[in-house]
Amino acid sequence: MKKGKKLYEGKAKIIYTTQDKDLVIQYFKDDATAFNNQKKSTIEGKGVLNNRISEHILSNLSQIGIKNHLVKRLNMREQVIKLVEIIPIEFIVRNVASGSLTKRLGIEDGTVLKEPLIEYCLKDDKLGDPLIAEDHIYAFEWATKKEIDKVKKMILRINDFMIGMFRGVGINLIDFKLEFGRVKTNGKNEIILADEISPDTCRLWDSKTDKKLDKDRFRKDLGGLIPAYTEVAKRLGILHEQSNISAVNVTKLSSVKKKNR
Ligand code: UDP
Repeated sequence: MKKGKKLYEGKAKIIYTTQDKDLVIQYFKDDATAFNNQKKSTIEGKGVLNNRISEHILSNLSQIGIKNHLVKRLNMREQVIKLVEIIPIEFIVRNVASGSLTKRLGIEDGTVLKEPLIEYCLKDDKLGDPLIAEDHIYAFEWATKKEIDKVKKMILRINDFMIGMFRGVGINLIDFKLEFGRVKTNGKNEIILADEISPDTCRLWDSKTDKKLDKDRFRKDLGGLIPAYTEVAKRLGILHEQSNISAVNVTKLSSVKKKNR
């Protein structure tokens, strides 16, 4: 698959065209941002780990019938994905209260929610991705009621699957963010899961110790982001138990791969 011109550059990924108009290449960068771009850094090896972890989760979701944009991983940092028309909403799914929810509503961090809670944020960096009500989506025609009903059903299945997958490896899935897009399949519009699912977009706490294994290590200056993401990858069986993947290792691996292409 040949990489064409840059179509879009986001905070953590770059999208390139390919010779197939329906497919694009998604490149995972090492850049980390938080608090609506106010905090920025580059963490060597993060993109490589997110590429692998996201590939693992999306291909497992595909196996349980959740259609998504992943076609295949190409190398350490890139995957081929379907080009979708993204719905401009970030769907936040919460099982345990943390992050913005605790600040906004004064709920204690770590409070277990009786039911999964779905929140909607408008994807608009200039506005700081504001929280919106479901009715805003219909009022401003960001998506139809039928689409949101479908998305909600998919979200609950994704959440059930991911809770189980992470529980099996001693990790609590606290919350995560999902994005969905429209594609035309055989002339019919369809909603599929898009974007990455990785420790950048989930809160993952070790079940025994509550140690944070996600981007909060960067947000809260806890350090040890690469070892935490590596731990997630190892527990999911993506990296071998004995492989001691450090930032340097990951970078080396990725440059070896580049040279070989
Ligand atoms: N999240 C994300 N991208 C965003 C906003 C949130 O991936 O632009 C994820 C975040 O990593 C967490 C969940 O969604 O797992 C809920 O985030 P929250 O609303 O608590 O916001 P934050 O505390 O990240 O500002």
